[in-house]
Amino acid sequence: ISKETGGNTVKFFDQSMRNKFQESLIIENALRANVDRGGFDQYYQPKTLLGKVTSVEALLRWNDPELGFISPGRFIPIAEEMGLIFQIDEWSLVHACKQNKQWQDEERLFIPISVNLSAKHFQQDNIVSMVDRALQESGLAPEYLKIEITESVFIRNPEHVAEVIGRLKEMGVQISIDDFGKGYSSLYQLLQLPIDEIKIDRQFIKDINENEKQVLLVQSILDFAHGLQLNVVAEGVETPKENALLIEMGCDEIQGYLYSPPVPKDELIKLLQVI
Ligand code: C2E
Ligand code: MG
Ligand code: MG
Ligand code: MG
Repeated sequence: ISKETGGNTVKFFDQSMRNKFQESLIIENALRANVDRGGFDQYYQPKTLLGKVTSVEALLRWNDPELGFISPGRFIPIAEEMGLIFQIDEWSLVHACKQNKQWQDEERLFIPISVNLSAKHFQQDNIVSMVDRALQESGLAPEYLKIEITESVFIRNPEHVAEVIGRLKEMGVQISIDDFGKGYSSLYQLLQLPIDEIKIDRQFIKDINENEKQVLLVQSILDFAHGLQLNVVAEGVETPKENALLIEMGCDEIQGYLYSPPVPKDELIKLLQVI
């Protein structure tokens, strides 16, 4: 129903809206079925510094038997709307913790693993017990788990969010602010939180070598964050020139296609020998 047409006229879906609607229904059904059968994969993207893999980020992959590959950028918002995100993220979390423990036991690889959790969890309390369960179930020590949340987490109930983050920190888990600078939180809000890391959004990294203002901006983020003793990751680094500049400027970790896209677990182990 469209209000914009004015008066009391009711405009029904036109064909393209109908197609969109049907498309979302198809994705919703397939997503629910995929959650039920546990059909997700997890890929891993390394973060590096000066020839060493310093940590790894777990990223969800959905390759549907009928629909093909659907990116998380597409289905995560749908899962959030459908309330499926809680099951999905619990799977990601448990799977990542178990994988990291396995790398420790079998490869003697001791690096933190980052897991993205939807801001939706932070409106509730059970995220704390969910994280606790994942650690218990996997046997992973909390300092090897990092939780990535976007700034949108602060839109609602910032006091409650701060309390939940505080409780996760007390457990020994690390907290990272993903896509930093995309513009939801105020620096003031961030200052109140016991976070460990920020990841500078790719929009500030892209073409940084060609843009003096971007350099100034990233340098001031770095100064600010380092003043607070935070770890700073540059995300979406694609070229050697970006890499060199960001390292010179003092970024603590680099993540991006320059080193590696997200890869399956076996490929990650091979990468460790190359990077
Ligand atoms: P994110 O956490 O900011 O992850 C970074 C995204 O950028 C990933 O996309 C990654 O593949 C991509 N990327 C990495 N390096 C580069 C680069 O050099 N250039 C470009 N252009 N892109 C790069 P992906 O895997 O499609 O994930 C998209 C988003 O979906 C993630 O953004 C994250 O917010 C969300 N997501 C992924 N897995 C999960 C999950 O298990 N739970 C939740 N709640 N969200 C997830
Ligand atoms: Mg992330
Ligand atoms: Mg990010
Ligand atoms: Mg980003």
